[in-house]
Amino acid sequence: MNLRTDLPAIAFIDLAAQRRRLGSAVDTAIARVVDHCQFILGPEVRTFEAELAAFCGAKHVVSCASGTDALVLALRARGIGPGDAVICPSFTFCATAEVAALVGATPVFVDVDETTFNINAKAIAGAIETAKGLGLKPKAVIPVDLFGLAADHAAVAAAAEAEGLFILDDAAQGFGATFNNRRLGTFGHATATSFFPAKPLGCYGDGGAVMTDDAEMADIMRSLRMHGHGSDRYDNIRIGLASRLDTIQAAVLIEKLKIFPDEIIARDRVARRYADGLADVAITPTVPAGMTSVWAQYTLRVSGGRRDALAASLKAEGVPTAIYYPIPLHLQTAYKHYPVGKGGVAVSARLAGEVISLPMHPYLDEPTQDRIIAAVRRALKAA
Ligand SMILES: *Cc1c(COP(=O)(O)O)cnc(C)c1O
Repeated sequence: MNLRTDLPAIAFIDLAAQRRRLGSAVDTAIARVVDHCQFILGPEVRTFEAELAAFCGAKHVVSCASGTDALVLALRARGIGPGDAVICPSFTFCATAEVAALVGATPVFVDVDETTFNINAKAIAGAIETAKGLGLKPKAVIPVDLFGLAADHAAVAAAAEAEGLFILDDAAQGFGATFNNRRLGTFGHATATSFFPAKPLGCYGDGGAVMTDDAEMADIMRSLRMHGHGSDRYDNIRIGLASRLDTIQAAVLIEKLKIFPDEIIARDRVARRYADGLADVAITPTVPAGMTSVWAQYTLRVSGGRRDALAASLKAEGVPTAIYYPIPLHLQTAYKHYPVGKGGVAVSARLAGEVISLPMHPYLDEPTQDRIIAAVRRALKAA
């Protein structure tokens, strides 16, 4: 309930503002596809894949129907399945672990770092040990670039090396961010991203892509996204999926990619103003040296059980918030029977009770942001 009916409503993510900026460009692009009628794997899909590869520096981009499918395609291309363990953080969106289960493998949960919210690479060795103890073969690790911040990809690579783990970066929230001055899409063996509308680079429906430098793996994923075709469409050499990025969505994404670098700068500006206005009253996110964030979410930590009261006060002032994520995966109904790596997941469990995300998008203007900051300060001082 917005008690401040005298003030305009605040958007948590303002896709309409972006649409106003794009003007008629997207409509024209969509109209072109409707005219040429190549709705599946039309020319815009190839163009977008090439532009995305150039943007992030990956050699190959295979677009598909969603971020979840992107993760599935990569695991399937590597032959990961029953009897295999896939290590992933517990504090993430469910799709990260869901894909391991979908291919028949077993997700093994590890903890995250409490300042970055990203996978604690030091916990990977313990999860490998746990997996082996259960008779599973540790095959892959899925670091997540949560809330837009790059994970510590150097530490993950070092931890994965001894066991030869396949590293699949889940950059659904972090695509566009950098690690050591390189954009995500080039770390690990493959990177998956999502174009769900609310992601930093979203389309007007569902979409996703996998990036890799491995040409053979890219070929297998192109086959898998189209029913496992071989030399032609009616030659079926593997069991695949129907998972293409719609040509219309590719056309939308070509236009959105043009403004994405500028939007990343705008997101960073918003994040800096939040930090300036709130760092003395809440734990604001920090970006370690050598990393950047695209701020898919701006997530505060409020300790001492005050989080829910803060959410309620902000709601009363017309400030929308969201809890990402209220239940860590190892406690979710669908996932609680899967193993937790030696070392536990205490940080994930604690964060779920402390995090709260504020409105964040590239078009959040300063007066609106000041209203949010003032409301958070008032609420936390009263608590
Ligand atoms: C959104 C998201 C996904 C899944 O993307 P979809 O396009 O919605 O399937 C996977 N992992 C993470 C971390 C996400 O945030």
